[in-house]
Amino acid sequence: MKLEHIGIAVKELATSVPLFEQLLNTPCYKTEGVETEGVNTAFFQTGDSKIELLEATKDTSPIAKFIGKKGEGIHHIAFEVENIEAEMKRLQALGFELLSDAPKPGADNKRVCFLHPKSTNGVLVELCQEIR
Ligand code: ZN
Repeated sequence: MKLEHIGIAVKELATSVPLFEQLLNTPCYKTEGVETEGVNTAFFQTGDSKIELLEATKDTSPIAKFIGKKGEGIHHIAFEVENIEAEMKRLQALGFELLSDAPKPGADNKRVCFLHPKSTNGVLVELCQEIR
C-alpha cells in the first residue's frame, strides 16, 4: 500500500487553503465537493503524496461531528490499493471493521472505503482506488 494522502479536517476551506498554500509553497490544484459525505475537499501535491483538506457542508457531515468532538486536525490516512474489493475482503477476514460493505465514490476520482478507528489503534484509515 502506498500512502496516497493525509486528510485534515478544517472549519473553513476559505481560510485553510491559503494557509496550506503558504505552508506547502504549492497551489491547491483541485477543490471538489462530495455531496454524499457532506464535504468540500481541497487537494495539494506534496512529493508523491497529497494533503486533502475537508470542510463540512452540513451539520450531519462526519467532518462536522469530528470537529465538534476533537477540533480541527488530522482526520484520516489514505492508502492507495490496486483492487479495493480484494483489499476490503482481506482486511475483513483479518478482523478489521469496515465502515461500508462496498466501495463508495470519493473525491479526486477515487472509490474509497474506511476502516473503523477502533480496529486500527484510533486511526481512521481510508482505502482508495483510482477510477480508470
Ligand atoms: Zn481522503
